Amino acid sequence: MAYELNDRIKNLIPYEPILGDYAVRLDANESFLPLDEGLKTEILEKMNGALLNRYPDPTARDVCRAFASLYSLSEEFVTAGNGSDELISILIATFLNEGEGVLSFLPDFSMYRFYAEIYGKKAIVVPKDEDFSLTAEFVLQHLKESRARAVIFSNPCNPTSQVTSAPEIEKIIKNTDALVIVDEAYMEFSNQSVLSLVPKYENLVVLKTCSKAIGLAGIRLGFAVAGKKITNALRSLKSPYNVNSISQIVGEAVLKNPDFIKSAVSAIIKSRDMLYAGIFSLAERKKAIKRVFPPKTNFVFCEIENAGEVYEALRKRSIIIRTFPPYLRITAGTEEENKALLLALEEILK
Ligand SMILES: *Cc1c(COP(=O)(O)O)cnc(C)c1O
Repeated sequence: MAYELNDRIKNLIPYEPILGDYAVRLDANESFLPLDEGLKTEILEKMNGALLNRYPDPTARDVCRAFASLYSLSEEFVTAGNGSDELISILIATFLNEGEGVLSFLPDFSMYRFYAEIYGKKAIVVPKDEDFSLTAEFVLQHLKESRARAVIFSNPCNPTSQVTSAPEIEKIIKNTDALVIVDEAYMEFSNQSVLSLVPKYENLVVLKTCSKAIGLAGIRLGFAVAGKKITNALRSLKSPYNVNSISQIVGEAVLKNPDFIKSAVSAIIKSRDMLYAGIFSLAERKKAIKRVFPPKTNFVFCEIENAGEVYEALRKRSIIIRTFPPYLRITAGTEEENKALLLALEEILK
């Protein structure tokens, strides 16, 4: 008999990033900042000496150390991944038994549900309230009702750009024995991190990425921060050479440079505030824009009439964003890119 794909995967279609040559790319929440020239030179020199015929350090020790130092953590809590995406995948695939529940929320990062489904877990996806807040009470109630073994959410949230406070997150961790996975991909743009709680709780994993604030989406580097038991499991489960030598070199050089990161974060926040102010003022004049959510990330989330048409009209002007009708998610770009977006929106909503 011919080989058949299993039921969970046979109807999947490959992830299709938005391709094409758009003049203004505000779709993927990347940093708009190029690498600092001095850092680039330092990296190129290190690359010269790299032994690319050899496998990389399987523990990615130097880059984990640089990451731990930047966030004032002990490196014993840190595991590096090929993007935080790889770590999400490992956690969901291996930390739960077949059919056990993974609780996530809607809207939130779609990969959580995706991995739960393809790995044969029970994906429990609960819609958020109208204002998109996420409270401890709400999460705990659904953990209890669903008997999920794990809960995962982004904080601040992609795509709503809302943040839940650190004390509220601690309330969740403290009052459940489920695994709590907090994806802090955007926390540099806010200030409610629970990284410091990692030594205190055995059921907490905090995920971090170099793809957003750090400006290194191209090297695929992320981190899981968790207690000894979880960290030991993650280090045993990941594929041995998951972070390649070049990513380790680039990641280490940039993470060792808090000044570069600090100035990048403040430039991105400035851009985001400009974009938010622009869309907010547009909303005062254009009835089509229903709500603009005060952003805690590097993007702005808003509700708009005919979101699909607005998206298409922007695309025709070579400006690409994301839409989840009736919402738009617009990444903060350079000043010129933000201005181009605002001008185009103004015209489209005429
Ligand atoms: C962008 C993003 C990530 C991606 O991380 P990688 O390290 O690039 O794999 C993870 N979580 C959320 C919520 C994101 O928006």
